Amino acid sequence: MTYNERGSWMAHPSVLIVGAGPSGLNLALALVRRNVACRVISDSGGPGRESRAMVVQARTLEFYGQLGFADEMVAQGIVAETAHVREGGEAGPSREVLSISFKEMGGGLSPYPFALAYPQDDHERFLIDKLRREGCEVEWGAKLTHFREEEHGVRATIEHQSGRTEETEIAYICGCDGARSCVRETLHLGFPGGTYEQLFYVADVKIAGGSPRDLFINLGEHILTLMFPVRSSGMQRLIGLVPPELSDRHELRFEDIRSRVEPQLDIQVTEVNWFSTYRVHHRVADRFRVGRAFLVGDAGHIHSPAGGQGMNTGIGDAVNLGWKLAHVVQSRAHPSLLDTYEPERIGFARSLVATTDRAFTGLVGDGVIGEFTRRIIAPLVFGVATRFSLGRHAIFRTISQTRIHYPDSPLSRGAAGGVHGGDRLPWTGPRVSDNFEPLRSLDWQAHVYGKADRSLETTCRELNLPLHTFAWSDGAEDAGLERNVLYLVRPDGYIALAAEDAGDLRSFADEFQLRFEDLRSG
Ligand SMILES: Cc1cc2nc3c(=O)[nH]c(=O)nc-3n(C[C@H](O)[C@H](O)[C@H](O)COP(=O)(O)OP(=O)(O)OC[C@H]3O[C@@H](n4cnc5c(N)ncnc54)[C@H](O)[C@@H]3O)c2cc1C
Repeated sequence: MTYNERGSWMAHPSVLIVGAGPSGLNLALALVRRNVACRVISDSGGPGRESRAMVVQARTLEFYGQLGFADEMVAQGIVAETAHVREGGEAGPSREVLSISFKEMGGGLSPYPFALAYPQDDHERFLIDKLRREGCEVEWGAKLTHFREEEHGVRATIEHQSGRTEETEIAYICGCDGARSCVRETLHLGFPGGTYEQLFYVADVKIAGGSPRDLFINLGEHILTLMFPVRSSGMQRLIGLVPPELSDRHELRFEDIRSRVEPQLDIQVTEVNWFSTYRVHHRVADRFRVGRAFLVGDAGHIHSPAGGQGMNTGIGDAVNLGWKLAHVVQSRAHPSLLDTYEPERIGFARSLVATTDRAFTGLVGDGVIGEFTRRIIAPLVFGVATRFSLGRHAIFRTISQTRIHYPDSPLSRGAAGGVHGGDRLPWTGPRVSDNFEPLRSLDWQAHVYGKADRSLETTCRELNLPLHTFAWSDGAEDAGLERNVLYLVRPDGYIALAAEDAGDLRSFADEFQLRFEDLRSG
């Protein structure tokens, strides 16, 4: 038995989380913050040291806002408000062709209208610390080697670094164990897709003339070069494609590509701290759930890092699964709630892999099509779109993952104004009162913008469902909400139900056997 920070005991773990990357750590936080005991194991000796993912998207920060630590993370990273797109550099200097302001794109849509540059290793340590404060320690050097489902749970075999082999029983197992997932392989699930022929490099460097805080990108035939600032080291992170003629070279070094990279971004590298190369795959697992086993993050989907989406998508999976598992373990919902995880998340993973694949192959491809995409399509799409606020908002919503919605989920019902069941609760801005503030309860809630009628107040009271009434405002209207209507908001900030009749709320709760009372205090 372990005790968390609030002094309440955590019983025998119900959930085994395999993997302590961003997905596993977020899943663990989602569970322990709801007082569900879990074990987190990792086959590595300690926290990751590679700063793979650099970008924390706005939707992830919104989830962290619910957990109460988004601002702390923002203060540790670098708010990248502008992206500079350059072209040329192969024969002569490159030039800036476009600069894109995230702030103008996302203003009014999210409390975090930017991309946060915050390296994955810092990010993981940050989450490990938050987890520790909740009384949950990652078990390092513990490798899942096998598991099988039995009548009432899962029996898993764990090999410890000390040489000890352990058999454990738990109710659910979650494979957050990355691209080579043991959980996925044990389930014999296919992982169809392919591998890009291009070789990527990643480097941490110092450049002459200081440390710019913006993002820089150069696109061309076989060229994709990105540069982000890294606050904790004062360095710049370079990610790019190794020129095809060098991709077979044994022990490639930064010096081999320096003469290409420097002119592409108009920089002079003065120090190289780390240089590595890797291949990228694009794949989605056949299923995200088999019985009591779930796949989360890279275990279920991997794709090109070009859009900065991979880690954020895994975190979105973890947030989605976390509250559902907690509800079922605590008997606050019918177990069929867990059936909604796969359809909600696999559809997005498939479309993401397809879009990143199309964008990536189009932008760096050779021949007429690649040239056409780079010179005509991309500038046209960005140029026209960024001239109009609708276009700017559409781009921000896509990149920031605030567009993700679950219209076809069995959990999504009704529509009112421009807001449908399955949409993310739109942010109404800080002008009157912040409608994201109550989401910190990490639990169900009813929202009304305007005035709630008596029968709704009575139903909410009888169901133990917190009702938040916000004064009708321009922000609510701009966000597409409708006045005096009920919006039932899920624990992860998505709308489950938009309805005028309190009776719809009662039947929704009955259907999923939802108990709204807060079980977090014990
Ligand atoms: C160079 C690079 C740049 C990237 N840039 C971005 C970016 O800008 N934005 C973005 O969103 N994404 C980016 N990504 C993708 C991102 O790094 C991954 O999507 C992310 O790490 C996935 O997190 P995860 O927790 O699902 O898996 P992982 O981070 O792979 O973690 C898996 C965990 O499982 C453990 N494990 C594995 N097998 C076992 C086992 N049998 N038993 C116990 N533990 C096990 C591992 O030790 C590890 O702790 C990038 C990736 C690369 C390579």
